[in-house]
Amino acid sequence: MDFKEKIRVIPDFPKPGIRFKDITTLLQDGEAFQAAINTLNDFARKHDADIIAGPESRGFLLAAPMAYALGKGFVPVRKPGKLPGETISQEYSLEYGKDSLEIHKDSVKPGQKVIIADDLLATGGTIGSTIQLFEKLGAEVVGVCFLIELSYLNGREKLKGYDVFSLVQY
Ligand code: 5GP
Repeated sequence: MDFKEKIRVIPDFPKPGIRFKDITTLLQDGEAFQAAINTLNDFARKHDADIIAGPESRGFLLAAPMAYALGKGFVPVRKPGKLPGETISQEYSLEYGKDSLEIHKDSVKPGQKVIIADDLLATGGTIGSTIQLFEKLGAEVVGVCFLIELSYLNGREKLKGYDVFSLVQY
C-alpha cells in the first residue's frame, strides 16, 4: 500500500509557509485505514504492550482502533481540564509559548507496557511529554509509532533509546 499517496498535502495551513499533512483522505479510504492500523499493529505486537495510548485528538484516531484490534486497553492523553478524574500533567514547549497534556493517575499501573501512537512526528515535543507522563506513573514505554514522520525536523533525536516506527516519511 502506498500510504503517502493517500495523504493530502495542503499548502499554507494553518498558516503561510506550512505544508500541512492531511490524514483525513487516508482515514476515509477504508482499505488504506485498515492497512495502516494493521501495519502499526505489526509493530505494536512485537512489544506485547498492555496499553495503547494516543494524544488528543488525531492520536485517538489511531490508538483506539489499534487497541481494539489487539484486545488491549486504550488510554487517552488529553488537553488540560478535559479528564474528570485525578490527573497528572506535563508541560511542553510550542513554537510560541507552552502547552500541556494530562492523563488520569490510575490510567496505568507501574510496570505496565505502553505503546504510544500519534498521526505525525514533527519536533517530538508532543510525544516527548506523553512519554514523560507514563514514565512518571512507573509505566514502561516500549514503543512509539506514527503515520507520518517529518524526518527533516529530527524528532527522532528526542526519542533516543525508544523504538520508533513511522509508516511514511517526508
Ligand atoms: P511535534 O510535537 O512533534 O512538534 O508535533 C506533532 C504534533 O503536531 C502531532 O500531534 C500532530 O498532530 C501535529 N501536527 C503538526 N504538523 C502536522 C501536519 O502537517 N499534519 C498533521 N496531521 N498533524 C500535524
